Amino acid sequence: MVLLSFINPLSLEGQEILGERIDLNSVFDENEELIRISEYFSEGIISDEGKIPKNYGELALKRIEWFFREKNDKDFKINEYSYFFNEAIEEFDVVAFHLLAQAIANKYNTNSRESKLFTESQNRIIEERLNRISTDIRHELVDKILNELLNNINALKWTDLTDLISSKKIFLADLLLKNGEIILNEEEFRQAYHEDIKDWPERRISMVYNKLVGYRIRELILTKIIVQNTEDYLKSIKEKLATIEIHPAIKVLGEELEDHLNKLNEKYSRFYSGGGFGEGSYELAKLSKEAFPPCVLKTIEGVKSGNRNDAIVLFLTSFISYARLNPQVFRLDQTINVTDVDPDLKITYNEILPIINEAAANAVPPLFEDQPQEKINIVSKLGFGMYSEPKLENEGETKWYTPMSCEKIKLHLGNLCRADKTCKKIGNPLSYYSLKKWQIKKENEGKSKQIKNNTKGKVNKNEISNEKT
Ligand code: SF4
Repeated sequence: MVLLSFINPLSLEGQEILGERIDLNSVFDENEELIRISEYFSEGIISDEGKIPKNYGELALKRIEWFFREKNDKDFKINEYSYFFNEAIEEFDVVAFHLLAQAIANKYNTNSRESKLFTESQNRIIEERLNRISTDIRHELVDKILNELLNNINALKWTDLTDLISSKKIFLADLLLKNGEIILNEEEFRQAYHEDIKDWPERRISMVYNKLVGYRIRELILTKIIVQNTEDYLKSIKEKLATIEIHPAIKVLGEELEDHLNKLNEKYSRFYSGGGFGEGSYELAKLSKEAFPPCVLKTIEGVKSGNRNDAIVLFLTSFISYARLNPQVFRLDQTINVTDVDPDLKITYNEILPIINEAAANAVPPLFEDQPQEKINIVSKLGFGMYSEPKLENEGETKWYTPMSCEKIKLHLGNLCRADKTCKKIGNPLSYYSLKKWQIKKENEGKSKQIKNNTKGKVNKNEISNEKT
């Protein structure tokens, strides 16, 4: 039978395993049983020693590594980490989870990108583990865990999940409700909708129930409660660490995690590799105003009321943020957040918002003097919810709005478009920006080549005239 702690390392059973197994003095000691299990369940990587965790510390790092790679490495193969999804690893994994939580809470703040990476990876591990368990065992396990997590699963109200709903882990629209109660089994569904379904054939009732509820909702609630508890766990460790001294092994694990994440970022981040226009590698760089398209320059110089708000809030905010943080958004078909590239929001505050503020001040009449509430709409378009400034903890509450196409600009903000010859080759201001930057780079390379040739010519002439004299 699969242990509850395989899904919920914070369960009572998980606490017991931790108490029995943890020995902070041997976190980095080679563990033969762990190596044997990892090798046995790792498909095709037995010969590659670097991929097998050899101690609890390495297993903790792998817990983050696999999730990071799944998000960022296009050649990622989940089978390299098969050992994580086999029950044989569960007791080791419980210890690795708790070690990692302590290392992260000690080294980073609880709203940091690393903390988010940890809680998101826990969410994903639960999903993947459940997917690999046979249906009967999976249902039994989910019920047991939910019974431990909730007082009474049979009379669960949406008000029992207010923490999850207010933090947008679960949306009311995900749930099927009747008089405030969440429907979680077919019998409840039949009773609640008796009048509506009384003439339906049996098959249809079951089919509709499974489509609307099934086990999906139980698993969603279970996963999100564990993620919420993991966030709370990080906070409680952080509070405790204010009064107690952390074990040196946890400190070392935190340092190793930082080092490991830096290496993973360098190796797999999509933002530091892959071609721009033409050959050569593309790198995130400071904004280059000389490569901005005419419509963007016009917006920054100042737009008049009429389409002023849309020009700044909808158009400029998305253009500037993507130009600086993810100019390849249309080329890489993958959703990311601002903090995937700007983890501490320094770039957002120091480089992106100042340009938006400049455009707002130049507008006639100035945007924020006239309508200060538009600041909230700008934050919302960056993906940080309806607040007056972007904060890490609010990310994801709204969507990071992608830049409009030229076609839409011409249609809705027609007076901004002053197409030049580069515009003929693109369909979006962001593509203009990348193309123009590449053109400027090539031009500059040509100029410096010319200067070098001229200088070389002069030197040769001087050498010849020196020889003559
Ligand atoms: S064609 Fe596109 S990029 Fe060029 S000015 Fe018009 S809207 Fe801007």
